[in-house]
Amino acid sequence: MIANYGYMDGSGEFYISIDTDKCIDCEHHGCIEACPKQMFVIEPDDYDDEVALIKAEFRKRLKYVCSECKPVTDRPPLPCAEACTPGAITHSW
Ligand code: SF4
Ligand code: SF4
Repeated sequence: MIANYGYMDGSGEFYISIDTDKCIDCEHHGCIEACPKQMFVIEPDDYDDEVALIKAEFRKRLKYVCSECKPVTDRPPLPCAEACTPGAITHSW
């Protein structure tokens, strides 16, 4: 399942999507340590599989919380996406 966390406003769409099917087989949960804002948490989903989520307190302000990882020019690889070797994490902006 693709789980989407975020919002849209007048300045754009700000969503982080997590392919939870990939989390089920993830052996390292690298997203937890990689995010400098500690936005990820591992919790059981409706089927009792351990998957990554974005903590609720961050979901309505992703544009601001992620801004340090996203300079306007010369954007480096995002720590969360780079650490997630299964490739479960995508950002809409
Ligand atoms: S590193 Fe990627 S695949 Fe592993 S738990 Fe985190 S989001 Fe899921
Ligand atoms: S872009 Fe940075 S702050 Fe945002 S989720 Fe990824 S690692 Fe965390």
